[in-house]
Amino acid sequence: MTFASLGLLDPLLRALDSLGYAIPTPVQAQAIPAVLAGRDLMAAAQTGTGKTAGFALPLLQRLTLEGPTVASNGVRALVLVPTRELAEQVHESIREYAVNLPLSTYAVYGGVSINPQMMKLRKGVDVLVATPGRLLDLHRQNAVKFGQVQTLVLDEADRMLDLGFSEELRDIYAALPKKRQTLLFSATFSESIRSLAGQMLDNPLSIEVSPRNQAASSVKQWVIPVDKKRKAELFSHLLETQRWTQVLVFAKTRNGVDQLVSLLQQQGVNADGIHGDKPQATRQRALDRFKASEVQILVATDVAARGLDIDDLPLVVNFDLPIVAEDYVHRIGRTGRAGALGQAISLVCADEVDQLAAIEVLTRQTLKRVEQQDFEPEHRVPLTDASGQVLKKPKKPKKPKVVGGGGKKNLGKWLESDEPASPQVKAVRKVPLFNTGPKKKK
Ligand code: AMP
Repeated sequence: MTFASLGLLDPLLRALDSLGYAIPTPVQAQAIPAVLAGRDLMAAAQTGTGKTAGFALPLLQRLTLEGPTVASNGVRALVLVPTRELAEQVHESIREYAVNLPLSTYAVYGGVSINPQMMKLRKGVDVLVATPGRLLDLHRQNAVKFGQVQTLVLDEADRMLDLGFSEELRDIYAALPKKRQTLLFSATFSESIRSLAGQMLDNPLSIEVSPRNQAASSVKQWVIPVDKKRKAELFSHLLETQRWTQVLVFAKTRNGVDQLVSLLQQQGVNADGIHGDKPQATRQRALDRFKASEVQILVATDVAARGLDIDDLPLVVNFDLPIVAEDYVHRIGRTGRAGALGQAISLVCADEVDQLAAIEVLTRQTLKRVEQQDFEPEHRVPLTDASGQVLKKPKKPKKPKVVGGGGKKNLGKWLESDEPASPQVKAVRKVPLFNTGPKKKK
């Protein structure tokens, strides 16, 4: 299959050619014809599967063919995303796809001055990428008008709910024209998202290109059990002994990010951090420098977990496990993108056993555990599996061993092997450990 056979216009095909996209990815192959035909869409796609082009290409084509020109302060297509970083990234992709088209595109998000955004919106914008809070601010100040909106895209919809945007989404939804196309994308589909979809979508085509709630199979995942107080020491040890080149590290709190960054910097490691307390410009600079390999270790809270596309990122480390199990899938989805191989290592202490169990239930797999010599935890991490059971509290071991996948293994050797992560377990029992409902804004 080619992009031309999906019925895309020549200016789009030329843009794809110059980006080196030869063959549509599965989500693109399904989404593009449906969106071109004007259908609503509910798409569950793994991170890194090319879903941005899946909605952006047909959307740009429809705008080009259909006219009319955009009115002052008007918008013809609205793409809602949960975070500022994702807004920048999605906008950048759309800009690249639209390079040969007579369409204007722009991104608005909070954390930066609103005035330049108001100025820019005066002439109207064909495609506007926005975070919900700032979009509503602009709408309330009449800087943006929704009368011309013909397509609404919700990207990472579940994350928007997780971040507490459900009220904003409701307000935006109420202000939009009733007759429009709606495309809902998400890597994970919780019950609250399905109910949102029920309210917003009209006879949607459901696309599910991958098993639900799973990371790309190209990501090799494992857990290293360790005592909480020794996590930083273990991280430094692995950084040195495994000769890690570029690592995206996730920590639970802003404080945790700052502490790890300053510790690494004291050790002479080129590290930087991003979290919600830092100004947007600082966050973007740290991310850009990390992407350009000018920063070796980027430590982030979950604000950076979604959608970020970093070329050939080899490794994600969960310094802390996420509170919400779905975030695990998104975090590790930063590696192994576009078919590349990736590794995801989680440093897990005994306190995090419930989070680990919830992740294993969600992803329907028992994560392999590999202990690191000299870092075997005093507080053992109880055994878990994909049924959601915390199996038992193991006794203190006499010597290091590997559990959750069987047999003794040497960490270094296992890393180099092609052995996949533990087989998936079919029987899934729901445990109320992970919260799928909307939460308070962070
Ligand atoms: P996304 O899931 O939209 O963030 O895309 C993940 C990565 O895949 C991005 O770097 C895209 O540029 C790239 N990509 C998307 N579609 C294709 C394609 N058909 N061929 C090659 N690369 C692609």
